[in-house]
Amino acid sequence: MSNSTTTAIDIKKIRAQFPVLNQEVNGKPLIYFDNAATSQTAKSVVDALIKFYEKDHANIHRGIHTLAERSTKGFEETRERVHQFINSEEADEIIFTKGTTESINLVAQSWGSKFLKKGDEILISQLEHHSNIVPWQLAAERTGAIIKVIPINEKGEILLDAYKKLLNRKTKLVAVNYVSNSLGTINPVKEIIELAIAQGAITMIDAAQAAPHIKIDVQDLNCDFLALSSHKMYGPTGVGVLYGRRDLLEVIPPYQGGGEMIKDVSFNGTTFNDIPYKFEAGTPNIGEVIAFKFAMDFIDEIGHENIQAYEHELLEYANSKLKSIPGFTPIGTADKKTSVISFLIRNVHPYDLGQLLDAKGIAVRTGHHCTQPLMDFLEIDGTVRASFAVYSTKEEIDVFCESLQKIVARFN
Ligand code: PMP
Repeated sequence: MSNSTTTAIDIKKIRAQFPVLNQEVNGKPLIYFDNAATSQTAKSVVDALIKFYEKDHANIHRGIHTLAERSTKGFEETRERVHQFINSEEADEIIFTKGTTESINLVAQSWGSKFLKKGDEILISQLEHHSNIVPWQLAAERTGAIIKVIPINEKGEILLDAYKKLLNRKTKLVAVNYVSNSLGTINPVKEIIELAIAQGAITMIDAAQAAPHIKIDVQDLNCDFLALSSHKMYGPTGVGVLYGRRDLLEVIPPYQGGGEMIKDVSFNGTTFNDIPYKFEAGTPNIGEVIAFKFAMDFIDEIGHENIQAYEHELLEYANSKLKSIPGFTPIGTADKKTSVISFLIRNVHPYDLGQLLDAKGIAVRTGHHCTQPLMDFLEIDGTVRASFAVYSTKEEIDVFCESLQKIVARFN
């Protein structure tokens, strides 16, 4: 049977955590290969959400009653858990946001307004998601800073030599993704950060696509800021993290004003709360933050090394099968990749392919994947993207490839 694996993954046990996978779509067993957009939510996470709404729902930090204490404890436990998960120096360096997008916007607005001035340079790569492009464009407009783009090669890899040439004393910030959502390229972020530091630049790592697959250690990376999203890590939607180094978080202004983020308010002026609360105005997604802890537990119980090895096996398996499909062109062939396969098939529009696969119960993503500048570089409008998770199987890949074969036979 093709489903045998050589890695330490108990796929049956893992899939039992995802009842959503156990359904038919359009009369066929669901095959969910849209994990780079959002992963399915682990049952332990859903159970924690239900428990919160059925038993513990109360606002955090302000109440002295039992439910408020329970929800505050749960919320702060997740902060501690993220602190361990990404190995920050302190839990106070963990700020909860709505997601990676909001985390990057926070930095672009707060850090940008304090530190960027006319003529300063911001380096981003050709591989970035719109959420690591547009906030910097807005910051550049406000401050007169200039955006420069780190080029990539045809395989979808950052050109380090070109990056080195772009770095100079005017470079104030380097913002790159750890893993490309469109191509799956794993970028050499440690090296990118080291080079940025040598020029005195601040670094912002978009780890949205890395966190579910690769162990993140912010102290080892030595980055200044890092963003991730719970919903790509088997956790709930509406929760993201911004990691920031304490000394930076302390000096940059608040992102939003409101409750929670203040110490004292009067009409003569306001003093702000300490970090991380200074950046957490208003009532957050309390239940979702609490439940996010269980997503990190789920990942850690399997182990990033096992996840990466298993997903790599899936990637290689799929690559070897897809090669034989007539007209198949992989888009993004970096040497180091997560389990993302972007591709085109001759004579079939990606959108049609997406619809025809859906008719067979297979969920993939089509289009530009919020990376239009990357698509422009590749001179294409978009791709079809199949992205695997730890619950994906070789059997599913078999069905996916057979379905593609049949579709291609109709068009060619
Ligand atoms: N960066 C990357 C690389 C992503 O893949 C995504 C989500 N597709 C984002 C940023 C934005 O994440 P979110 O929508 O969770 O804010």
